[in-house]
Amino acid sequence: MEKGLLIILSGPSGVGKGTVRKILEKMSDLSFYFSISMTTRSPRPGEVDGKDYLFVSREEFLSRVERGDFLEHAEFVGNCYGTPQDVADSYLNKGTDVLLEIETNGAKQVLAKRPDALSIFLVPPSMEDLESRIRGRCTESEEVIQRRLAKARSELDLAKEYKFVVVNDDVERAAKEIHDIIIAAHK
Ligand code: 5GP
Repeated sequence: MEKGLLIILSGPSGVGKGTVRKILEKMSDLSFYFSISMTTRSPRPGEVDGKDYLFVSREEFLSRVERGDFLEHAEFVGNCYGTPQDVADSYLNKGTDVLLEIETNGAKQVLAKRPDALSIFLVPPSMEDLESRIRGRCTESEEVIQRRLAKARSELDLAKEYKFVVVNDDVERAAKEIHDIIIAAHK
């Protein structure tokens, strides 16, 4: 059986990866498993354990790192995030596409291990736009906002390492562009 396609959707925090992914999930001609990451971050209001993330203690996360449970993992602004490898592989082996919504260090690790992955980098139309999105989320302290913005500036330099760069000037349009990239990758 043909393996599923491993899709990496990366880009700076706050660029809208989650919103775009949710639009992709509703498209009837696309079918993929969204890889639920493990994180040591506390849930934001409305986030559901097992749906948005698997929320775990740092202790548990580190023991899983030691066991080699992650396809990739990274520290991002003081918290750990990782992709459980067994779940992703079981979907890929069944022929189902798997979408990873991850930051750039993790994306780099996946590309080193799985060079055939489809890598897509979502960028904001401008830094001002990204800042207002991060602020609009209203869930982080000023210090965390500043750290996320500094991180975003360095992450934007990495766009050239991806097969496709998509500008999130409009979420529906950006989702349609990513839809077309995924469909074309299957041909
Ligand atoms: P947030 O705290 O805003 O949910 O996520 C912070 C950053 O970590 C975002 O860029 C998000 O896409 C990324 N992220 C989420 N899950 C993972 C993961 O499993 N691995 C890596 N490397 N990054 C992740």
